[in-house]
Amino acid sequence: TTTTDVTLIGLGPMGQAMVHTFLRHGHSVTVWNRTANRADDVVAAGAVRADSPAAALAASELVVLSLTDYRAMYDILGSATDALAGRVVVNLSSDTPARTREASAWLAGHGAALIAGGVMVPAPLVGTENAYVFYSGPKEVFTTHEPVLRLLGRPDYLGEDPILAQLYYQAQLTIFLTSLSAYLQAAALMEAEGVPPREFLRYAVDNFDTISPFLAETVEELEKRSYPGHLSTATMMGATADHIVAASKEAGVDVALPEAIRSHYDRAIAAGHGNDNWTSLWEVVRARG
Ligand code: NDP
Repeated sequence: TTTTDVTLIGLGPMGQAMVHTFLRHGHSVTVWNRTANRADDVVAAGAVRADSPAAALAASELVVLSLTDYRAMYDILGSATDALAGRVVVNLSSDTPARTREASAWLAGHGAALIAGGVMVPAPLVGTENAYVFYSGPKEVFTTHEPVLRLLGRPDYLGEDPILAQLYYQAQLTIFLTSLSAYLQAAALMEAEGVPPREFLRYAVDNFDTISPFLAETVEELEKRSYPGHLSTATMMGATADHIVAASKEAGVDVALPEAIRSHYDRAIAAGHGNDNWTSLWEVVRARG
């Protein structure tokens, strides 16, 4: 087999963007994808097509995975474990921290190291100056391959524990996905009452812009688990949460998200936090078990 600088397995939009980025910087790339014709574009651009996962692993020490989840990694590499020894597997697929820890142990058992990662931009921004990528795993291994990985976006190395990158990734996506749904919810309420989403857009943008300064104040209260203040109490905010549910019902739009928010307030108030700041919802949200 010819050897290349990097192997990339998984050619969805993200994987394809990564291959194009590596090629653009003059690196040789071997690729493999379950649905073979998804490799056609990158092969036309200069990537080398491997005819099996084992051949893809044999081609490069650095192996980047861009798959739907970690299950896909076992489906692909499970039949090629003999080719894993000495490989550095950089898994940029989304999944849970526990599954990431398991994967680290599984790969180690086959003589390979796992660097877990999470790419924080969509495919069109891979390899641009706006891109950043969380990484965690063995520091020396990461440092060795950092110059190549850096091409995908600014690396943010979080530590040796493999779960860290996944944890930060899922935390960021928690904010991202809930915020996007919040926007859709608000736009649906407007539209149902005859206001086109476009009319509302600049107010929504203004609202998102004012939220970030809140966070620094909030974090202190979370650290202390103390929620002083009488300007935005759980009772007052809870009444608004109630109105949002009622307004959504009146408009005939979905109520799952408004009801989830109201439930945070109801439970904080039931636990005696009615006269505390709204940040007392932390006691509900952080609940274990
Ligand atoms: P896609 O779902 O389009 O691609 C997934 C890849 O995984 C394909 O190559 C697919 O193969 C492969 N795959 C899935 N299941 C299996 C399986 N059981 N066996 C073999 N191969 C499998 O994802 P994206 O490219 O959009 O994303 C890849 C990862 O990056 C995901 O974890 C995603 O969460 C993350 N991410 C995505 C972003 C985005 O904007 N799209 C942004 C940041 C991160 P096949 O072609 O044969 O189906």
